[in-house]
Amino acid sequence: MANKSKFQAIRGTRDLLPPETALWNHVEQTAHAVFATFGFGEIRLPIFETTELFARSIGIETDVVSKEMYTFYDRPSEEQASKIFEMPPKTLTSGGEFIERKEKEAFQRYQSGESTTLRPEATASVCRAYIEHNMQQLSQPVKLYYMGPMFRRERPQKGRYRQFYQIGAEVLGGADTPAIDAEVIEMVMTFFDRLELTGIELDINSIGHNAPDCRPAYVQKLKAALEKVKDQLGADSQRRIETNPLRVLDSKLENEQPIIATLPRIADHLCDECKAHYAAVKRQLELRGVFFKENWRLVRGLDYYMRTTFEVTAQGLGSQNAVCGGGRYDGLVELLGGPPTKGIGFAIGEDRLILSLQEIGKGAAPQGRDVYIAWMGEHAYAAAVRAAKDLRRAGFSVELPPTESKFGKALERADKLRSRYALILGDNEVSEGLWTLKTLADGSQQKFTEPELLEYLRKQKALSS
Ligand code: ATP
Ligand code: MG
Repeated sequence: MANKSKFQAIRGTRDLLPPETALWNHVEQTAHAVFATFGFGEIRLPIFETTELFARSIGIETDVVSKEMYTFYDRPSEEQASKIFEMPPKTLTSGGEFIERKEKEAFQRYQSGESTTLRPEATASVCRAYIEHNMQQLSQPVKLYYMGPMFRRERPQKGRYRQFYQIGAEVLGGADTPAIDAEVIEMVMTFFDRLELTGIELDINSIGHNAPDCRPAYVQKLKAALEKVKDQLGADSQRRIETNPLRVLDSKLENEQPIIATLPRIADHLCDECKAHYAAVKRQLELRGVFFKENWRLVRGLDYYMRTTFEVTAQGLGSQNAVCGGGRYDGLVELLGGPPTKGIGFAIGEDRLILSLQEIGKGAAPQGRDVYIAWMGEHAYAAAVRAAKDLRRAGFSVELPPTESKFGKALERADKLRSRYALILGDNEVSEGLWTLKTLADGSQQKFTEPELLEYLRKQKALSS
């Protein structure tokens, strides 16, 4: 149990500790390795951006933007401040005028676009970077991935935090060939497969595109159908009939399920091009041996999302069971002021991925030591320091106790630290030039000269890996 000390991590944030961090590292290293095999390069992005970037890209009517963002007004530079107030900035906070000026200041900062937000996701930042660095001049498409913390002010619960971590990738530019959609999905599933995450399900859908004969026509039909069953729906869904009818399909409310099952489905209303694109994505997935389930209710509520959407759900996570969400967003770069650019990507919830891995018994074991050096005596200490250096250089994890202790005590400690071997070094051993290596699992002992010892350990390591 955590100790209720004076300072505690802020609600919805948490410390990640060993040995769990070893699993986080393993997951991240696997992402680096797998994504590299698909030709993706890593992009490292700032953790905060101007508020407007997210407001525009995610949409101001979404929960993320309207309720969940951590937004603050950054301090204006002295020059900006003096322009705003037409007086030296230092007098701003002095005396009785403070309150009034502070309000004015906040308003002006807002107007001068200095509102800043901790990123709730990273797709917008990747698109911003694509535009800012003229990446459309590179060979297309540009394939990028990222990992790191995101921030949303949600109600904390299992699998839902206010600071959480995502691993994501985006393909920007080039064509909207179905093979790209399929390859991105294949990459996600390869990553999960490499982590031996079992019991997952991939759902896919196509949500058409924003042309009169495609999604908008469907949304009209959907809206009309929803109006007819309005009184059987909850308050949230009723509101969404007006603001964003597609989002009603997202509903997890038990009593709305039978009603939603009767609603018109987008697959029956796609235009010919979108229909062909979707069919090709499915064929391409089959070609790649990727198993999927079609889920007509998988939608994204924003106009620039189009065609392919997908989601991966995992076991052992309760209702927070989505570990990856993705889709095609061909209009986004343009919306942010760039050239018309195709785009598709996904974001994996790393916290949930880790929870699911632990749930199926793939958690990290506490880290042991290869060698614990039990030393006694001044000469022995000098040899122990040297041995530790040599062994560590050869890649062994070594515990070198900073103070001398009796061999019995030292061996107890070696055991506690889950050491594989104890190297016993007394002044006798050192003057004889023969060192004793004890295998802790069976208590057997062997004597070696210093060079023999390293050779022996190397061989053992090679055998066991
Ligand atoms: P959910 O419906 O679970 O809220 P979402 O639609 O908000 O998910 P996305 O914005 O698509 O999620 O983000 C992709 C992934 O990031 C999710 O599938 C999930 O695994 C993870 N994720 C999103 N919000 C959180 C959070 N607050 N805490 C932990 N993981 C999260
Ligand atoms: Mg959410």
